[in-house]
Amino acid sequence: MSFTEITPTAAIENARHGGRAKCLQRLIRLDMPVPRTVALSFDAVHGISAGDMPDLGAMLALFGPDPLVSVRPSSEDPDWGGPGAILNIGMNDAVHSKLTKTHGEKAANALYLRFIQSYAVHVGRLDPDEFEAFSTSSPDALHAALALYEEETESYFPQDPKEQLAEILRSMARAWEGTTARLLRQAKGAPADAGLGLVVQKMALGVGQSTCGSGVIQFVNGQTGYREIRGRYLCKSQGRDALSDAEDRDVMYLTKDPRGRSIEEVLPENFSNLLKYGDLCRTRLREEMEIEFTIDNEELFILDAVRVQRSERANVRIAVSLANDGIISREEAVLRIPPRALSELLHSQFDPKDKRDRFAKGIAASPGAATGKIVFNARAAQAMAAQGENCVLVRSETSPEDIRGMHAAKGILTVRGGITSHAAVIARGLGLPCVVGAQDLSLDRKQRKLIAGDGREFAEGDVISIDGALGVAYAGAVNMLPPELGEGFQTLMAWVDEFRDIGVRANADTPPDAHNARMFAAEGIGLCRTEHMFIDDDRLLAMREMIFADHAEDRRAALDRLLPMQRADFTELFEIMQGLPVCIRLFDPPLHEFLPHGREGLRELAEALDLHLRDVERRVDGLREFNPMLGMRGVRLGITVPEIYDMQARAIFEATVEASKSGDPVVPEIMIPLVSAKREVEMVKARVDAVAAEVRIETGSDFTYRLGVMVETPRAALRAGEIAQHAAFMSFGTNDLTQMTYGLSRDDAGRFMGEYVAQGVYEEDPFHMLDADGVGELLKMGATRGRDANHDLTLSICGEHGGNPESIRFCRDAGFDYVSCSPFRVPIARLAAAHLAL
Ligand code: PEP
Ligand code: MG
Repeated sequence: MSFTEITPTAAIENARHGGRAKCLQRLIRLDMPVPRTVALSFDAVHGISAGDMPDLGAMLALFGPDPLVSVRPSSEDPDWGGPGAILNIGMNDAVHSKLTKTHGEKAANALYLRFIQSYAVHVGRLDPDEFEAFSTSSPDALHAALALYEEETESYFPQDPKEQLAEILRSMARAWEGTTARLLRQAKGAPADAGLGLVVQKMALGVGQSTCGSGVIQFVNGQTGYREIRGRYLCKSQGRDALSDAEDRDVMYLTKDPRGRSIEEVLPENFSNLLKYGDLCRTRLREEMEIEFTIDNEELFILDAVRVQRSERANVRIAVSLANDGIISREEAVLRIPPRALSELLHSQFDPKDKRDRFAKGIAASPGAATGKIVFNARAAQAMAAQGENCVLVRSETSPEDIRGMHAAKGILTVRGGITSHAAVIARGLGLPCVVGAQDLSLDRKQRKLIAGDGREFAEGDVISIDGALGVAYAGAVNMLPPELGEGFQTLMAWVDEFRDIGVRANADTPPDAHNARMFAAEGIGLCRTEHMFIDDDRLLAMREMIFADHAEDRRAALDRLLPMQRADFTELFEIMQGLPVCIRLFDPPLHEFLPHGREGLRELAEALDLHLRDVERRVDGLREFNPMLGMRGVRLGITVPEIYDMQARAIFEATVEASKSGDPVVPEIMIPLVSAKREVEMVKARVDAVAAEVRIETGSDFTYRLGVMVETPRAALRAGEIAQHAAFMSFGTNDLTQMTYGLSRDDAGRFMGEYVAQGVYEEDPFHMLDADGVGELLKMGATRGRDANHDLTLSICGEHGGNPESIRFCRDAGFDYVSCSPFRVPIARLAAAHLAL
């Protein structure tokens, strides 16, 4: 038999008949009043499109004499869609006159007209505008529609229900196999060969003379996830009509309502049955379902039930509430939340209902939504923030000088840059919405204008909005929904930590970052980029003095001024982290990043340092490098200007002694960046050990610490065996490692990455998604060689990939101890790690 009646015991399977057929069987098993229904399997539907029609006479006979039926799609996953439902199949002149007697002319006309309209459009492929223009309330419409059909097709409207049904089944089967439908569902994750099932169901008419109609009801708010009865019911209607813009007089409320009649009052028994069925769906189907129902002559029929459409916020609340009520396990609640979906809860978001006027598209660098006045430099951002105004910092790209402006802004938009550019990394760290690489934009510095690709111009002070999750900028303000870190989120995250088996730390540079890390329950700091501590005016000046010093002594004097500041930074971080590990990376960037750009800046510096402008210029020129990312930075600076690392090591150890006084002993972790040779580690280690010995003697306190390396160069991964002999831990800095493995500048890749991905040269932006084949190979090699040489070696990742669910899988498989990512990605990483362990 090529069709199967859906009964409690029939062999109906999701993977053969589709989700709708399976769900209907579940409703039938729960004794809900579902009209008789037949399922056609994927194979049967495929056969229909190839010309193999099932015995429709036998099928229609199941539904009794002169039946009217509906056909609906049933794909494996309801989200993959399918052709729209067609109702009232079987309507013809004879049934029309019969129904005119039993249900009245108006109802009979409406049913027939509706069927002619769908048949003409879906089977006859006639112009929908012409057919859908007929109004069901006009008595002449039916004749006009029949006449139009005959004129357009040069044939009578088919009267044989078998023929009607056959044509409809064939058109639905073919529609599914068409290219557009296939591409659409593939975009939603369906496999290329996804099958379509169909369900044929006896109609409950919903248009008789007594109380009749159709509606949908759900028991939860799809926006918030809170339980409440919602939905609509429309008198004398069918299918999902209730969801259309009906006139108010046709609406009947579901629950008691001062504005008019309600099902609760008019048909209390039907209402209490609806509540019962909603409850059964929740407890037995273990899901919040929207029920589609029809009331026909006061009798309730359940036609269908689908999972309530919901926001990610609601999804979390619903999963937690189902688990709290013992309906699903905690494991299942955790598995029901896709890790990336948490991003919607962690950041503010634009109200999906609000209108937007898009003027630019770039790379989605840091999620969240921001609205504010345009500012073009950090100073203006600070000034605007000081006046209590929200602003969006718009730059060609950002540099360390912009950091205070970035702190002051609500969002950041840059014309250049990629996913690991300065703006992107800092914004993610701060949890600030950020769009980078919006190439269509241009900045007119002189006129202080931002010019969009379509020619629109924006001046300083104009309001714009950016969505960092979509990488889009809009003109004007958009309404905002705040983050949602309430009870549902907290409960879910507590369960997550029971299941996961890989550690999650945060990349945190400042006390506010560390507080965020704690708020999101990171298990420590996996990367503290110390250079971000030098942004304040005093420090910047001391740093510049240090850079300009001609002698080691002068350099030391400048560093002596920085020492207490760094000590205070580290003490505060240790105190905030309360004994959790804190991994501090020694100074990494090229020194020239700390020097001013532009003549005015140079002049101010000359004045501050009491030097001639020419001397300052000469010095700045001397520090200029052709390729600073591959130049004097990281450990190379530590070897050639060792006083910087000495000062930092001293600050870390003195802070260790200080912070250990008030709590458990702190065991700091010191990390050396950009290592490529064993000797580099030996040399830095010797000096750091010496500083530790001095501090122990000076303070009369003992302490331990762990010294490790960052693996950011391919050579460090290749030589991990010898490097690991001197390291307690190795942390893979996959931003630089990706840059160096590909020979691809992380700051410039944004320019062509879109094109590269679009043309399939790279499957993904490797700065965004860890390149498992190439960079991953180095990670595995480095991890294995390192561990073979040093069994106690702690392995971790601290590049931006650390917060990425796919990379976390990779690191867990490679035996890493933890991943470290921006504080706002910590919850996503924790959830992704739990999914991997379940
Ligand atoms: C890295 O290179 O992956 C890293 C974490 O360091 P940074 O991004 O500061 O260069
Ligand atoms: Mg790096």
